[in-house]
Amino acid sequence: MALDEAQIRENCKRVQSRISEACARWRKSGDTVDLMAVTKTVPPELVNVAVDCGIRLLGENRVQEYLAKKDIYAPEAEVQFIGRVQTNKLKFLIPSVTCIQAVDSLHTAEEINKHAQKHSITQKILLEVNIGGEESKGGISAPALPALLESVRALDAVSVCGLMTIPPPGDSERCFAAMQELFEKTAQSCPGLTTLSMGMSGDFETAIRYGATVVRIGSGLFGARN
Ligand SMILES: *Cc1c(COP(=O)(O)O)cnc(C)c1O
Repeated sequence: MALDEAQIRENCKRVQSRISEACARWRKSGDTVDLMAVTKTVPPELVNVAVDCGIRLLGENRVQEYLAKKDIYAPEAEVQFIGRVQTNKLKFLIPSVTCIQAVDSLHTAEEINKHAQKHSITQKILLEVNIGGEESKGGISAPALPALLESVRALDAVSVCGLMTIPPPGDSERCFAAMQELFEKTAQSCPGLTTLSMGMSGDFETAIRYGATVVRIGSGLFGARN
């Protein structure tokens, strides 16, 4: 059942304070972790309640749903795309979203590059890593990351800002630890790599422990999805 406005406000406060507590416990002072509200299936009026609670970053999974909702979002909201990228729909996302998180192939990056060039912008992206090695999931394997990164960095209208991952259920801690190591190693030779997007409603504190710079929370803010 959909939550009402008061329940969403309560959830926002609770998640924000759990993030602060996890930062205080696990991270060095000065580190910040951004909270992204994941909005799939949530009516835009209720998403705006989260924006009003100070959550400025929104994550959209579906292009059609995003197009139907974007004009209703509060103007201070910043929208990133976190879903599977279909290259034939990139024209609806660029230059509208500030970052495309789940890029996992050179082909997709090249298509993003073309659209970004058309608009004379540099499109920020993250590369998705399939750290759990699941066959059915998107994301590049960890061993294949350096070669993809090198090719994508050669594109002039795309800027790789970091990495994102979705671990297999029940295996978050091991996967987040592996992502932290991969991220730190990769960032040494790629100074622009500053974002590590990992952690959802069920495991965001663990993600913060292992260096997440942005956590993506849906049901923890808006309630269970149908
Ligand atoms: C749905 C979704 C989330 C949020 O999941 P919750 O468990 O509801 O917090 C995070 N990231 C991605 C990519 C998603 O699709």
